[in-house]
Amino acid sequence: MTRLCDLAPSNIRAIAPYQPGKPITELAREMNLNPENIIKLASNENPLGVSPKAYEAMQEALEDIARYPDGNSFALRDCLCRKFGLQPDQLIFGNGSNDILELAARAFLTPGTEAVYSQHAFAVYPLVTLATGATGISVPARNFGHDLDAMLAAVRDKTRIVFIANPNNPTGTLLAKAELRAFLAKVPEHVLVVLDEAYDEYLPAESKSEALLWLKEFSNLLISRTMSKAYGLAGLRIGYGVAAPEVADLINRVRQPFNVNSVAQAAAVAALSDEDFVQRTYALNQAGMAQITQGLTSLGLDYIPSYGNFVSFHVTDAAGVYQQLLKAGVIVRPVAAYEMPDYLRVSIGLYAENDRFLEVLEQVLKVPT
Ligand code: PMP
Repeated sequence: MTRLCDLAPSNIRAIAPYQPGKPITELAREMNLNPENIIKLASNENPLGVSPKAYEAMQEALEDIARYPDGNSFALRDCLCRKFGLQPDQLIFGNGSNDILELAARAFLTPGTEAVYSQHAFAVYPLVTLATGATGISVPARNFGHDLDAMLAAVRDKTRIVFIANPNNPTGTLLAKAELRAFLAKVPEHVLVVLDEAYDEYLPAESKSEALLWLKEFSNLLISRTMSKAYGLAGLRIGYGVAAPEVADLINRVRQPFNVNSVAQAAAVAALSDEDFVQRTYALNQAGMAQITQGLTSLGLDYIPSYGNFVSFHVTDAAGVYQQLLKAGVIVRPVAAYEMPDYLRVSIGLYAENDRFLEVLEQVLKVPT
């Protein structure tokens, strides 16, 4: 007798499930630890929490929770148009920016087509590609970053999407603006370039993306941004995409009408206006990055210089060290699934969290695993 699950499409069965950072509550249950003594530096979340303005907006939005959200996210759309000088029909809203990536894949990929992405790039690109039945082409990285020449060479008639993470997660690498722009000018028009800028807010002013300005020139560019990182709204799930109106229109056709909840919409509007919070987040991350990278160096560990709110460091027996850190109540992220079996990724936390991570890591490295 044929089993139901054997009849599922082979492209679905081929998907390797996404491995999220371990939640604090899960580790507390598994190791019988007090959740208050656990620190999670595993999902690139904002250690400052959420902007007080956004928090207030959420409370207010809860009053109206019996109603469906505005399926067009009018207030949020308006807010982003003003902030970035966009037209309303250029925007797509998502239940996190993962949703934007998936919607783009669903709108443009079919079996027989291809999507190109880099080795060590964000895990969701292969995932959303395979789910559509399209073929994923992973291009070898150069110094852990995207090799744009090789990626361009991988583009063929069948290619519909090129995914680029800038900065990339989990490597933290950043492409120079001029290089990226030159790449866009060379990508054929039948290919959508999905430029994932989840960590743009962590870049120093001179390195921040100018891609929104490039939209006038490139009608095959989709920029994706998130409210999960610097804006501290990871649990609410909200992100957005910006593209040419024609592209946004197609993507919006596969979007569920109420994919972004009302509390998230209200919080996002308030968060976008709280520039002071984003500035504090940036400053804390800069200081924490220096603290952690100096600490890693003192421990004799190599790391990949990172432009995000996390850093991946080299360690022999990464799986063993990960387990030992867990036992001590410190959650980091293994990145073996990213073809980086000898690395662990740590998110930048509060000063005391970074300190505890370094202290525990030092202890763990002393004891043979
Ligand atoms: N892109 C990149 C590069 C990421 O690292 C992440 C978060 N891990 C996302 C997109 C998705 O984040 P979210 O769905 O929370 O917006």
